[in-house]
Amino acid sequence: MSFDFFKLIVLMGEYFMIDEEYIPIAALNQFSYCSHRCWRMFCTGEFTDNQYTIEGTSLHERVHTVGALSKEDGWQVRAIWLKSEKYKLIGKSDLIESENGELYPVEYKRGHKGEWDNDELQVCAQALCLEEMTGKTISTGYIYYAHSHQRQLVEINDDLRHSTIGTIQDVAKLLETGTMPQAIYTKRCKGCSLYSQCLPTMVDKVACYQEV
Ligand code: SF4
Repeated sequence: MSFDFFKLIVLMGEYFMIDEEYIPIAALNQFSYCSHRCWRMFCTGEFTDNQYTIEGTSLHERVHTVGALSKEDGWQVRAIWLKSEKYKLIGKSDLIESENGELYPVEYKRGHKGEWDNDELQVCAQALCLEEMTGKTISTGYIYYAHSHQRQLVEINDDLRHSTIGTIQDVAKLLETGTMPQAIYTKRCKGCSLYSQCLPTMVDKVACYQEV
């Protein structure tokens, strides 16, 4: 088993000594999905489950059984805490794998590959943490979709890094100011567990009433 494996295990323990403010990696995913939803969840502490979030939580509970597996050409470690001092990020990864000297994060998601890029962004944020923790360059990651039982390759390229770092800055500002982004109705609202609290279509109607 390699040095990196033990280093990661030690860093898992260090998480519990952190006393500074860090940005949850999950907040990047939520912000990319909808900035208003991110504000509700991480600035007001509001959250409601629906079918999709319950399935997602159940999947992560199954995946987040802490454990490690050593293989001939590498190793796997589950439910490991990742952090970055540079970006002030923290989050728990579903799975980190090392194979033939390459290190990569694997994020588990319910359902099939969607049309949004928020899952890729989450994997890239994990890669940024892993790079800082191990000193290795991470060039790939994966998203495992539970319904299709398929892994989707995520290339940690310059474009994705740029977009992830931009989102980190946006989320940092949101958490610092607590300023509420406007709720805007989009196709994503149909699957959003906060729909009944948010009522995004009412925003325009109320604005119309006010203008009369
Ligand atoms: S209902 Fe739509 S606008 Fe409101 S939080 Fe959800 S995704 Fe965002």
